[in-house]
Amino acid sequence: MKNYILISVCCIIFCFSISPLFAQKPDSATVARSVDFVKMTDGVWRHISHVWYMGEPVPSNGLIIEADNELLMVDTPCNDQQTDSLLRWADKTLHKPFRKVIATHAHGDRVGGLATLQKHGIDVWTTPLTGEWSVKRGYGAPSKAILPNDTTFRFGKFTLRVFFPGAGHTVDNIVVGIAEPRIVVGGCLIKTAETQSVGFIGDAVLNEWSNSVRKVEEQFSTASVVVPGHGEPGDKGLFQHTISIIEKHLKQRPAKK
Ligand SMILES: [Zn+2]
Repeated sequence: MKNYILISVCCIIFCFSISPLFAQKPDSATVARSVDFVKMTDGVWRHISHVWYMGEPVPSNGLIIEADNELLMVDTPCNDQQTDSLLRWADKTLHKPFRKVIATHAHGDRVGGLATLQKHGIDVWTTPLTGEWSVKRGYGAPSKAILPNDTTFRFGKFTLRVFFPGAGHTVDNIVVGIAEPRIVVGGCLIKTAETQSVGFIGDAVLNEWSNSVRKVEEQFSTASVVVPGHGEPGDKGLFQHTISIIEKHLKQRPAKK
């Protein structure tokens, strides 16, 4: 379990170059608990949870989507305490319960709040592969590890598509697209424009990563906002940005003997 906590922290820290936003250090206890919320458009919020690592707060992105009487979350905050904060905020601010959570791969910054959600009776949906890895890594079994690799469904006024493009950051990484307003949650498969680093690649499949991103780019060719796992969202340019980071890394990697 300890190893996986370390992996999660490493995943987060290496995935992201600290932005100037955090140049002024806030209180560490506040950061460890805190979750921020940014409204992206009507009915869609980005949640940003932080971990304090090596003296710096590191942010992770997820989404909250509103229907008339219920909410859907894409990716949990990094731990149970932050997930609890998110649930309290949603209760107070949006006055609706979460009915469904979709996790985009089995690392702590995506499924770290799984136990809290299950304590509240909220179903966590993943692909069977993410369900398997979530158990192997000690995060527990998602209640609905049955998502197909490509599936589209309605949630309130939104049409959502869950898509597995192939391996990259991990073997199980999926993306979630919202047809209108054309937002794609890329998770850790996609890099923010603020970084040039491949991030944590301990579980990555480097040779397949670029092709998987190309498939996302093809399938979501009309995306106007792309949300990476860490750092600020961008436009479709994040797809090619990510590919160039991976290709550069592959070229610089020492050849295998
Ligand atoms: Zn990860």
